Amino acid sequence: MKKSLLLLSFCLIGLFTFAQKTIIHCGKLIDTKNLKVLEKMTIVVEGKKIVGLENGYRKGNSSDQIIDLKSKTVMPGLIDMHVHLESESNPNAYLDRFTKNPGDVAYQALVFAKRNLMAGFTTVRDLGGSHVVISLRNAINRGLIDGPRVFTAGVALGSTGGHADDSNGLNETFKKDLGPEDGVVNGTRDAAKAVRQRYKEGSDLIKITSTGGVLSYAKDGMGAQFTEEEIKAIVSTAKDYGFKVAAHAHGVEGMQRAIRGGVSSIEHGTFMDEQTMDLMKKYGTYYVPTVIAGRSTADSAQKPGYYPEMVRKKALEIGPKIQSTFGKAYKAGVKIAFGTDAGVFGHGKNALEFQLMQEAGMPALETIQAATVNAAELLGQSEVLGTIETGKFADIIAVDENPQDNIKTMTQVKFVMKEGKVYKN
Ligand SMILES: [Zn+2]
Repeated sequence: MKKSLLLLSFCLIGLFTFAQKTIIHCGKLIDTKNLKVLEKMTIVVEGKKIVGLENGYRKGNSSDQIIDLKSKTVMPGLIDMHVHLESESNPNAYLDRFTKNPGDVAYQALVFAKRNLMAGFTTVRDLGGSHVVISLRNAINRGLIDGPRVFTAGVALGSTGGHADDSNGLNETFKKDLGPEDGVVNGTRDAAKAVRQRYKEGSDLIKITSTGGVLSYAKDGMGAQFTEEEIKAIVSTAKDYGFKVAAHAHGVEGMQRAIRGGVSSIEHGTFMDEQTMDLMKKYGTYYVPTVIAGRSTADSAQKPGYYPEMVRKKALEIGPKIQSTFGKAYKAGVKIAFGTDAGVFGHGKNALEFQLMQEAGMPALETIQAATVNAAELLGQSEVLGTIETGKFADIIAVDENPQDNIKTMTQVKFVMKEGKVYKN
C-alpha cells in the first residue's frame, strides 16, 4: 500500500512538472517568415518546445514561470552556418598544430562554443576541424557542457596540396601523403571513401574545399582543386547518408564545378561573377558569404608577422572583396544563408556580420531571416528551427532595440534560451 502511494505521488509530481509552462512576454517579436515586427506578444514554452504564440500578454497560472521581455525585441535563436569551434585566430596558429594535443583543443573548443551560444547563436554549423568537434557536439547534446546545437562536418575534404591538406608547408619530418581517412581525396574512389569515413566518425554533413583558400600554407588561394567528377562522387555518396555538402570556394571555376556537382552551399564565394550567380539560382544553391572573415583576415594581415608571408598576400587580395560580391549576389536574387567563419576571428563576435550585410544593401530583417529561416532550410531543420511557432524548439533570444532602427543591437544579446532552458537573462 505504502509503495503504491509513493508511486502515485511520484506520478503526480511528474505530471505537475510536465505541466509547468514558461510564459514569455515580448514587447516586440520578429516574425522571421513574414519579415514583420509584431507588438505585445506572448510565447508559451513547455519542455523543449514552443506550445503557443498569442497576441497580448497572457497571465498564466501560479505554477507558470513568467519572463518579462516587454522592453526587448525578441526573435528566434540565431544560426551561424559557418564556424570553426576548435580554433580561434592568433599569431601562433601555425605553431599550435605542433604543440596542442586533442585535449588542449577540446578545452578551448568548449569555451569557444559557449561564446557562440551567449552571443545568441543557439545553433551553429561547424565546417571543419578534427574528431574533437564531434565529441564536443556529443557533450553538448548530453547536457555535460553549455553550447549551441552543433551540426558538424568533422574533418574537411580537399585534394593533395589543397586547402584542406593538413600537411601543407611541413618539412620532411612531418610531411605525409595523407589520404581519405585524413580528408585528402584524389579520384572518385577516394571521394566515396572519405565521405564514408566521415559517416563512420559521426559527422552531420560534408565540407569540401573546391578551390584554394586564404589561411592554408599554400601559394594559390582561388584555383580549382577538385575535378567535377570528384565533386559528383562526393555529393552522390553523401546522399546515401543524408549528408548535405558545403563547398568552400573563392574562384569561379571551382565554384561552378561545385554548383554543377550538386553541393548545397557555396562558402565565401569571393570572386563570384554574374554567370556563376545565374548558375546558383538555376541549381538553388545557397550562398554563405562570411563577409566578416574576409574583413578580419585582411585586418590581421596588416599586422607584421601575424600570418606567414605566403598567407598575408592572399588575405590582402581576397579578404576585402567578399562584401561587394555579397551585395551583388543579394541583388541578383541568390539565396543567402548567414555564416561568419567564426574562429578565423574571435568567437562571440559573429553578430558583427549583420551590420556588414546591411551595409551591402540587405535590409535588417532580411539579414535576420538569413540567420534563421534560410539557415534552418539549408540545414534541413525547418521543421524545428528558424521561426517562433508552435511545435518548434524553444530557441529564443532578445535584444534591446528594434534591429531595423539599429542593427548594432544584434551584437548585444540580452536573453538566450535554447530548448526551453535559459542561459542568459
Ligand atoms: Zn571556414
